[in-house]
Amino acid sequence: MTDLQRCFNDVIARIQQAEHACNRQGDVQLLAVSKTKPDSMIREAYSLGQKHFGENYLQEALDKIAQLSDLTDLCWHFIGPIQSNKTRDIASHFHWVHSVDRLKIARRLSEQRPEGLPPLNICLQVNISGEASKSGITLAELPDLAREIASLPALKLRGLMAIPAPETDPSKQRAPFHTLATAFRQLNQESDLQMDTLSMGMTGDLEAAIYEGATMVRIGTALFGARNYL
Ligand SMILES: *Cc1c(COP(=O)(O)O)cnc(C)c1O
Repeated sequence: MTDLQRCFNDVIARIQQAEHACNRQGDVQLLAVSKTKPDSMIREAYSLGQKHFGENYLQEALDKIAQLSDLTDLCWHFIGPIQSNKTRDIASHFHWVHSVDRLKIARRLSEQRPEGLPPLNICLQVNISGEASKSGITLAELPDLAREIASLPALKLRGLMAIPAPETDPSKQRAPFHTLATAFRQLNQESDLQMDTLSMGMTGDLEAAIYEGATMVRIGTALFGARNYL
């Protein structure tokens, strides 16, 4: 067994245990966050059955997408901060964007999504810990922005994403996820948005996120090891 295979098995076991502990079964999707990792590792992960990969840095991601274009059923998720001069490439090469936090960016992604491609799947990033330095909208901004984004023709609003402030104490990890999940349910109840995705949980807090209803966990370090510098 290779190191990568062992890491995937461990992460999948963590996900299954957490699902089991809260009576959920097999409904949490694993997004493998491959930023700074070479395309050879993505290829190996693909050979283990992994199809969904997350990237933060556009140029690095575009290079890998080109290198791996023979794997036609890979699904690419952009999860990093978005500058408005980068939206065309994101709209052309990705299947999902998790880090949308401005209407201007959403409009550009919709306008620039090439014809013939299915709608770009969108998660709105919410700044759940209220940190000034982090990107993401406030909960107060969420309902209006969600409705506006859902009305854009080439986008499909799938749900919400958050990166809470780092917290190593497991007993304190659940609160921000609970806040996001509550906002998600409330918005779905009050609207006909029918969002189906809660993108939350990373290597250090995936269990807490799953207990609170995460449908997609974004895992880098536990799968691929510590990050290489670009
Ligand atoms: C890097 C990154 C991850 C993965 O974090 P790990 O702690 O390495 O699992 C998840 N989400 C986002 C938005 C990231 O930038």
